[in-house]
Amino acid sequence: MTDLHPRHVDVDLTSAWDYAPAPEARGLANIRDSYGLFVDGEFVDPAEDGSLTTYDPSTGEALAEVAVAGPADVDRAVKAARKAQQGWMRLAPSERAKHLFRIARLVQDRSRELAVLESIDNGKPIRESRDHDIPLVAQHLFHHAGWADKLDHAGYGPNPTPLGVAGQVIPWNFPLLMLAWKVAPALACGNAVVIKPAETTPLTALAFAEICQQADLPPGLVNILTGAGESGAALVSHEGLDKVAFTGSTAVGRKITQNLAGTGRRITMELGGKAANVVYEDAAIDQAVEGIVTGIFFNQGHVCCAGSRLLVQESVAELVVDKLKDRLQTLRVGDPLDKNTDLGAINSPAQLERITELVERGVDAGAEAWTPDCALPEAGSWYRPTVMTNVQASNPVAREEVFGPVLSVLTFRTPDEAIEKANDTRYGLSAGVWTEKASRMLWTAERLQAGVVWANTFNRLDPTAAFGGVKESGFGREGGRHGLGAYLREGAVA
Ligand code: NDP
Repeated sequence: MTDLHPRHVDVDLTSAWDYAPAPEARGLANIRDSYGLFVDGEFVDPAEDGSLTTYDPSTGEALAEVAVAGPADVDRAVKAARKAQQGWMRLAPSERAKHLFRIARLVQDRSRELAVLESIDNGKPIRESRDHDIPLVAQHLFHHAGWADKLDHAGYGPNPTPLGVAGQVIPWNFPLLMLAWKVAPALACGNAVVIKPAETTPLTALAFAEICQQADLPPGLVNILTGAGESGAALVSHEGLDKVAFTGSTAVGRKITQNLAGTGRRITMELGGKAANVVYEDAAIDQAVEGIVTGIFFNQGHVCCAGSRLLVQESVAELVVDKLKDRLQTLRVGDPLDKNTDLGAINSPAQLERITELVERGVDAGAEAWTPDCALPEAGSWYRPTVMTNVQASNPVAREEVFGPVLSVLTFRTPDEAIEKANDTRYGLSAGVWTEKASRMLWTAERLQAGVVWANTFNRLDPTAAFGGVKESGFGREGGRHGLGAYLREGAVA
């Protein structure tokens, strides 16, 4: 007979226990072989032949062919948007809200499928796409659906009006979330959009096109043009637009802003960042270490607001770095679809090359690079979580946006020195501060030059809170009441 309560179990407690694989079902993502452009409510062929391939960054395998939009397609999409917007702006705001609520519910209904699709196309861990990206997409849609019939009370006068047609370009780091950040406020305020997803991550935007069809959204209100940078350039330079919204690199954002200067078109730019994460000696150190990890290793560090510069008070620097290294030994890098994975794949070989090159330049400039001892998959694009110490303020890894899992560690002695070093950057998107003292927290937050400052947390995104940068991180806000202002013309007070 089996002994149900054995006294002795023969287990080797000296060896490390490993995690069994826990893969999410890849088949949940329904990927077609090829996709057209989404214009006027249907998938259409581009005017000129041309397609690009989107790849799974964790394996390098081709996933699908997507159409490349040219100037004629942009023109067609902008005209469809203009026509649709005339009816949309006259629709009762409560009816506009119903459409957005329906889209939000469909995103929730299809959330598992969308999370798998996002992880396959982008390389991010399923834990993040499932628990962060897609829930936040739904939250943004719900939040803005709620605003659609309350715009009179948003602080833009008694009867604010939509701008018209918005041309929007988004990056590859949070593909569907960035789409929601752009599309939801635009539609809620009565505008129509033409949006271009990034070349390497078009699939969830195309799934969103299907959701618009499913939700019976009037054709032409959302047009999705896939393609590379040239398609984006053709879109933002179209003369029929009333508004351009861009998220991406500072270099491209600057070029677009220069080209649009003097056209009278409204512009918002959400650009790069090089955030300081300031840890004072009185901080709860273990909590701060978790915050440092979330700050820079979330989404493989492909985050514009990533806490890529750790500024730690000298008296606790050694302790913090030791604890951080211990913690990084436990991170699992690998299959994005495995529910145990902490860091997924780097989104593209080009991005991997950029990260590798910048770290090499950092080491050449005198920094030391440390990585945990973890095996990386053979195929695909991968980079180990990396901590750079002995970093001078002039080192390129401390100055340039790496956009990868690379943390630069700098130290400070006094709060004034912390502020001086934190603000010694051309960027100003976000920052973090870790201290147990509320007065120090407020003193620091007031002095940090950043659009968003987190205290004793990091990378918290919320649809009710405005997000955006200062300095070379851009201008304009997304989310919250302020974000509505980017898609409204103020109403006149009678
Ligand atoms: P880009 O700024 O080049 O790309 C962002 C978006 O703009 C993409 O959809 C891109 O298309 C499009 N685009 C490219 N060129 C033009 C143009 N001339 N006119 C209009 N649209 C254009 O960023 P990358 O993807 O090349 O990344 C480079 C670096 O930028 C990263 O290493 C990172 O430092 C930073 N970055 C910052 C982001 C942020 O959120 N702040 C987001 C992404 C990148 P396509 O994808 O087809 O090239």
